[in-house]
Amino acid sequence: MYEHDVLIIGGGLAGLRAGIEVTRHGVDVAVISKVHPVRSHSNAAQGGINAPLTDRGDEWEGHAYDTIKGSDFLADQDAVEIMSSEAGDAVIELERMGVIFSRGEDGRLGTRAFGGQKVARTFFVGAITGSALLHVLYEQSIKLGLGVYEEWFVTKLIMEDGVCRGVVAYDIKSGKLHTIKAKAVIMASGGSGRVFEPSTNALICTGDGLALAYRAGAPLMDMEMIQYHPTTLARTGILLSEAARGEGAYLLNSKGERFMEKYAPDYMELASRDVVSRSEQIEIDEGRGIDGNVHLDLRHLGRDYIEQRLGYLEEVSQEFLGISMAEEPVPVRPGMHYIMGGIKTDYNGATIVPGLYAAGECANVSVHGANRLGANSLLDTVVFGRRSAVHALEYIKSVESASKSEVDLKSEQVRLQSILDRPKGESIAKVREDMALGMTKGIGVWRDQSSMEGALENLNNVKTRVPHVSVEDKGKVFNTNLLSALELEFMVDNAEAIVHGALMRKESRGAHFRTDLPERDDENWLKHTLVYKDDNSNNGVRTDTSPVKITQWEPVKRVY
Ligand SMILES: Cc1cc2nc3c(=O)[nH]c(=O)nc-3n(C[C@H](O)[C@H](O)[C@H](O)COP(=O)(O)OP(=O)(O)OC[C@H]3O[C@@H](n4cnc5c(N)ncnc54)[C@H](O)[C@@H]3O)c2cc1C
Repeated sequence: MYEHDVLIIGGGLAGLRAGIEVTRHGVDVAVISKVHPVRSHSNAAQGGINAPLTDRGDEWEGHAYDTIKGSDFLADQDAVEIMSSEAGDAVIELERMGVIFSRGEDGRLGTRAFGGQKVARTFFVGAITGSALLHVLYEQSIKLGLGVYEEWFVTKLIMEDGVCRGVVAYDIKSGKLHTIKAKAVIMASGGSGRVFEPSTNALICTGDGLALAYRAGAPLMDMEMIQYHPTTLARTGILLSEAARGEGAYLLNSKGERFMEKYAPDYMELASRDVVSRSEQIEIDEGRGIDGNVHLDLRHLGRDYIEQRLGYLEEVSQEFLGISMAEEPVPVRPGMHYIMGGIKTDYNGATIVPGLYAAGECANVSVHGANRLGANSLLDTVVFGRRSAVHALEYIKSVESASKSEVDLKSEQVRLQSILDRPKGESIAKVREDMALGMTKGIGVWRDQSSMEGALENLNNVKTRVPHVSVEDKGKVFNTNLLSALELEFMVDNAEAIVHGALMRKESRGAHFRTDLPERDDENWLKHTLVYKDDNSNNGVRTDTSPVKITQWEPVKRVY
C-alpha cells in the first residue's frame, strides 16, 4: 500500500500545475498517469492560451464577457470572473517558468486573434503551444521533485463513509494492482473525446476520471455540451487549429464564397465555434460543400508567413492530405473536439464528494458553459489546477489518515480477473466503434428528440454487449487489451451522462442545437443539467438541474 497527503490523477497541464502547487507548499504529493506525462493530450494543443494583459490596455472584464457570451450565458459568471482576472498572472508565470512564447515585432509577448473575441489576446508558441507548456511544467515538476506513478492506471476511487480516501491503481508494467491512499484526490484526467468517432482527441481521452467520479456519487454537469470544432481535416478528423483563421484564413464553399458573411457578418470566420460549425454544416447540407467538406483557404497569407506562424498545420496538411496550404485550400469539416461538461465543481475545484477535487477538461467549473472559446481551455487547466491544489491543501489540514483497509483492492482484483477469464466474445474495438458512431449520429452538430432517442437506444444495446467483450491477451506485462476493456466501460458511463443530459435540455443553447426546438429558452432552461449515477433507478441515472450564477451580465441575444 502507498500513501500520500494529496494524490493527483493526471499528468497533463491541470495535473502538473496542481502538483507543482502542492510541492511548493512542502506537502507530500504524487501524480499518477496512465501515460508518461508529456504524452497527455495537453501536448496536442496547438493554437494558444488566452489572457487579457494590461500592458496592452486589455481588461479582464472584456475577456470575461466574451467568455460568457461564447458560453451562450450558461457559464457561471463568478467562476469566469476568477479565471479572467487570474489569467494574466497565470500566463506571466508560465513565461517566467521558461515557456518561450512567440513575440511580436516590438519584442513583447505576441498575440493572435481567436474566435468569439474582438481583441487579439491569445498567447502562443508557433502552433505547438500545448507541447511547449507541458514540457515546461514537466521540467518544473522534476526540479521540485514531484513524484509520478508513470504508466499506472486508476481503476477505482476508494470511498469510506462517503469520503474519497484514495484510489486503486493498476501498474501497467507489472500488471499488479495497488492501493494508494490519500487525504485528498485531485482528478485531472482530461476529456472524453473518444466517446465519439471521429474526434480530434488522442486515443487516451476516454473520460476515465469523469466515470470514476460519477461512480463515486459526483454529478456530471452539462454533459450534452459537446464542442464540434469547425476545422478538422477531411477524412482523418485531425485538428487544424483555429489559429489558421486567427491568422486570417477564409472559409469558402463550393462556389468560392466566404459564406460566414451570411451567418456572422461582424466576426466572420472568427465567430464562436458552435456558430461556425453550424454555418459550415448548413452549407454542406444545402449542397454547397465539397465532398462533405468546406475549404479553408490560407493562400493569401503567403508561404513564409504560414511556415513561420503555422508551421505545424502545414506539416499536418502535407502529411495527411498531401496539400500545401500555401498552394491549395484544405478541405475541412466540423468534428468532435472538446467536452464542456464534466464533474461539477465549485470555483475552488471542490466536488460534492468530500476529499475529491477536479480540474481541467474533466471538470466543469463552469467557465465554458454551452460553448468554450478557443484557447480558454489551456487557461482553465492552469488557473483551476492551481486553485484546486490550494483548496485541497486547506482541506487536508483537518483530515486524519485514512484507514488501512484493502477491501477495494481485493474487489478490484476479482473484477479484473473476471474480465480476463471471460470466454471468447465480442471484440472491444467493435463495441467501442458502435458506441462512438451512435453518439456522433445522435448527438451531433444538429440533434432532435428522435436522434437523441436513437443514441440512447444504441447505447442501451451497447451496454448489453459490454459484459461480453473478451480480452485476448491474458498476460501481465503491458496488457493494453485489458486497459481497453476498462476504458470502454468508462466511455459507456460518459455516453450515458451525455445522452441523458441532452434529452433533458428542452431548448437550443450553444453547442446543443435541437432542430426541433431551435430557440434558447432562458425562462425555463437558464440552468445546468446534472446527471447522477443511480443503480436503484430503472435507467441507472437520476437527473436534476442547478442554477446558473449570474453576477453582472444579464443574458442577451447572442449575435456575431
Ligand atoms: C488537438 C487538440 C488541440 C487543442 N488545442 C487547444 C488550444 O490551442 N488551446 C486551448 O486552450 N485548448 C486546446 N485544446 C484543449 C486542451 O488541450 C485540453 O482541454 C487540455 O489540455 C486538457 O488538459 P488536462 O490537463 O485537463 O488533461 P490531459 O492533458 O488530457 O491529461 C489527462 C491526464 O490524465 C491521465 N489519466 C486519464 N485517465 C487516467 C487513468 N484512468 N489513470 C491514470 N491516469 C489517467 C492521463 O494519463 C493524462 O496524463 C486542444 C485539444 C485538442 C485535442
